Amino acid sequence: PSIKEFVRTTKTSESYNPLGVGNFSSVVVCQHKITGETFALKIIEKEECRKLAKRQHPNVYNEVAMERRILTQDRLPHHVNIVRAYHAMQDYGNLYFLMDLHREHQDLWSQIRYKSFSDGQYYMVGCHASLIRTYMYELLSAVEHCHKHGVVHRDLKTENILLSERGGHVVLIDFGTARDLIQTNLNGPEFVGTPEFMSPEAVKEFKKGGHGCDFTADLWALGVILYQLYAGSTPFESQSPYLGFLKIQRGIFSRSMGVFDDDAWDLIQKWLKVIPQDRLGAGCFEWIPPAVTAGETNGEEI
Ligand code: ADP
Ligand code: MG
Repeated sequence: PSIKEFVRTTKTSESYNPLGVGNFSSVVVCQHKITGETFALKIIEKEECRKLAKRQHPNVYNEVAMERRILTQDRLPHHVNIVRAYHAMQDYGNLYFLMDLHREHQDLWSQIRYKSFSDGQYYMVGCHASLIRTYMYELLSAVEHCHKHGVVHRDLKTENILLSERGGHVVLIDFGTARDLIQTNLNGPEFVGTPEFMSPEAVKEFKKGGHGCDFTADLWALGVILYQLYAGSTPFESQSPYLGFLKIQRGIFSRSMGVFDDDAWDLIQKWLKVIPQDRLGAGCFEWIPPAVTAGETNGEEI
């Protein structure tokens, strides 16, 4: 298909509210002109890529190509908890990805962010334990699927986990910085990640200015995510990035920031192991899956 077949739509008439804006991309709602079907469209400006490539981000084109290859060229078989992308398109100025549209502004991060009515400030609060179990069970299934097929996500964090339009299931997005362990001729940028979710080995590489890390970094990030879902805050939050990195490398985190279930705490400790080889794999479903309540299917109806 051509991008001309689609039109941007939005709830407010005067402006196109994006669903999200990243470093060099924005995601908007669009509609097929004839069928009326709605999608999420990730728009990447070529000019922005060129500028970024000249400055700090020489591999930005790899990043774009990576996401397209993983999500639209059958590199990764479809999974209910991974965003479904349909087509990559381009015109003179932009690259486009057409994806399933999920709930607006409903990523896991906004689930734990709460705006106080009294002072207008945002506070991070933990989720309900039963929701956490559903989220983690589905997220693990998505991550295990990636690892089984030789794909490392490398930017697992609550902002890259959406809730689906129907049913509130978890959907993993943003494969721009993923790594392909099988077809390694094309990979995302060498250094990636978000400081609070970075593993000790990634921090070490970062300090050396060195290269990326493999699937054990995703396992670490799972520990950070599970912690954050209970506590609201991430385990290595500090006044400065330097202190944060120090805590990460020493694996220092405290249980006092939230009210954790014992089995969840156990799992967090198994993922936040400083030595990568000691971490529990994503396929180890030691945690009991959430009970399926009547009238609800688990994972299917996305
Ligand atoms: P970036 O690489 O710029 O971080 P993402 O793919 O993470 O780009 O998308 C940026 C934001 O756009 C996400 O955090 C999310 O809020 C929103 N978004 C992305 N894809 C979808 C989608 N399929 N449905 C709804 N919102 C989306
Ligand atoms: Mg993102």
